[in-house]
Amino acid sequence: MHYAALASGSKGNCHAFCDGERALLLDAGLSLKQVRLRMEAVGLDPRTIRAVALTHEHSDHIGAVAVLLRNTDWVFLVTPETKAAVERIHGIQIPDRRWVPLRAGFAVDWCGWRVHPFTLPHDASDPVAYRLEVQGFNAAVVTDLGHPTALVADYCQDLDLLVLEANHDVDMLRDGEYPPLLKARILSRVGHLSNVSMAELLANVLSPRLRTVVMAHLSEQNNDPELVRVVAAEVLQGWQTSLYLAHQRDPLRPRAPEPLVAS
Ligand SMILES: [Zn+2]
Ligand SMILES: [Zn+2]
Repeated sequence: MHYAALASGSKGNCHAFCDGERALLLDAGLSLKQVRLRMEAVGLDPRTIRAVALTHEHSDHIGAVAVLLRNTDWVFLVTPETKAAVERIHGIQIPDRRWVPLRAGFAVDWCGWRVHPFTLPHDASDPVAYRLEVQGFNAAVVTDLGHPTALVADYCQDLDLLVLEANHDVDMLRDGEYPPLLKARILSRVGHLSNVSMAELLANVLSPRLRTVVMAHLSEQNNDPELVRVVAAEVLQGWQTSLYLAHQRDPLRPRAPEPLVAS
């Protein structure tokens, strides 16, 4: 199973999973042109893309949906509530033949992949994150959540790959330039995940199996990549887990993990 973070952050989000034959995108916050360029840049074939699964209707996750609907034949995996919100925002209609309806808490089979959408605490109509199980490989992409819940931790057990939000440092956000209302929104229980909350969730999902962790949706104003590295590395100390940071402008493709060595 191949994974790449094509873009991650408040200006656009898109993750790619590919089993060699077919690829699924998570979120559509990146232009079609950039999806193709960035997949090629990391050695994945954009012609294998068959579908895009949406998490929620915030613009950094759905900006390209109208173009994808017009210019590709990809299907959309999305819950009815988020679909309705996306259609309203973009003034479009996703036809039934292009729609795989999802419901949080219920797995669907997509081309032999198990796709598990699960509920997140975030201020959108029906926000979900995804756990994917493909040929014995388990991955989850968890961003845009205000706090770590037991449900989220449950869905993040026994993973090979975890992509997890590390949005902000609480002090940097509090002392920063954002308007008070926006600060309050981000800090709320349905806002974004702080570095401290990220560490708490990460500590609850560690296992020898978890070999790759990607920090995602970092705020450019309210976080510092080096700080994220330090906070996450402290949690990962003693585990044979590789740590990566996803970027807004450049795609990231983590290396395949080395075989485990006894310690
Ligand atoms: Zn977002
Ligand atoms: Zn959001």
